[in-house]
Amino acid sequence: MARAVEPGFSGARRRLIETLQDKGIKDLAVLRAIDMVPRHKFVPESTRHRAYEDAALPIGAGQTISQPYVHARSLELLQLTGAERVLEIGTGSAYQTALLAELAAQVFSIERVSTLLERSRTLLSELGVRNVSLLLGDGTLGWSNYAPYDAIVVGAGAPHVPPALEAQLAEGGRLLLPVGDREEQVLAVFTKRGGQLERRDITPVRFVPLIGAGGWPPG
Ligand code: SAH
Repeated sequence: MARAVEPGFSGARRRLIETLQDKGIKDLAVLRAIDMVPRHKFVPESTRHRAYEDAALPIGAGQTISQPYVHARSLELLQLTGAERVLEIGTGSAYQTALLAELAAQVFSIERVSTLLERSRTLLSELGVRNVSLLLGDGTLGWSNYAPYDAIVVGAGAPHVPPALEAQLAEGGRLLLPVGDREEQVLAVFTKRGGQLERRDITPVRFVPLIGAGGWPPG
């Protein structure tokens, strides 16, 4: 990740980190990752002035970049040590992808909208992020070539755990998924123990729908 950050944004990013700490984010590795990744590069030019507000923003193609607090809380729940292989479903803006790249060894990220994926590919390469592989396709089917994954993060809401993702999660691994209906979900962490998923519900959330064979039909 490029370390040089435009001075115009560094104060705003510091304030965002303080806001996240005030809201209860304690994991120093997560806060450091948020400090390293220039969120303003991941949002459209027109909303750049709002990049360091603790708010979700539109990123085009009817999709949104999640609120920083939701990313921070999700990453905290994954308890990454830097050694993990992580699968992300729903690259979107690639902001969370870049955070994961700071916190894990290798990141595999799948996006179904090609315009978003190509923009992400260009941006991550411009920022010098090297430990991310991107795939265009239906993430509900996972990415079996590199399985099993120590962690799987789904950035869109699903009616249930897609079976392929359960199968591709390593023993002891964690899967983070917003589960519920198309509009409202609960963010749940599933841990694989003895081949079974144990579920823990964290907080109500609103994510865009996970569209695909193991998610919702399109439309
Ligand atoms: N963490 C991302 C979230 C983007 S929104 C960010 O903060 O930018 C969720 C993304 O999931 C959207 O880009 C949407 O196109 C994508 N998505 C939905 N269903 C998908 C599927 N089955 N496979 C891959 N991507 C999917």
